[in-house]
Amino acid sequence: MDSLEWPVPPPFMRNCVVCHALATALVDKAESPVGCFAEQVTLARHIVRDHPDRVPEPHTDGCALCPDYAKRNDGDPAGVWAEHRTRDLFMPTHVARLM
Ligand SMILES: [Zn+2]
Ligand SMILES: [Zn+2]
Repeated sequence: MDSLEWPVPPPFMRNCVVCHALATALVDKAESPVGCFAEQVTLARHIVRDHPDRVPEPHTDGCALCPDYAKRNDGDPAGVWAEHRTRDLFMPTHVARLM
């Protein structure tokens, strides 16, 4: 489950110039995945805002964070949970699930 591989972006990301540009910048800068934090956040926010129908369902495969987010009763007003769920789309799983 803890893949070290960078995932192949799903088709909707390859067809969107913004996703494509941000994902390319991210991989280019990602000598260390923690070194490209701004790009991760920017891309996650873009997907939540502009591709809301593409945000994955909450993780049910042992994610450490989704159960905590699910317990909150304020919904997800800041979109932080949704951003978390998008990160699997463009980050290696072990890094994506850190936040
Ligand atoms: Zn996009
Ligand atoms: Zn999760």
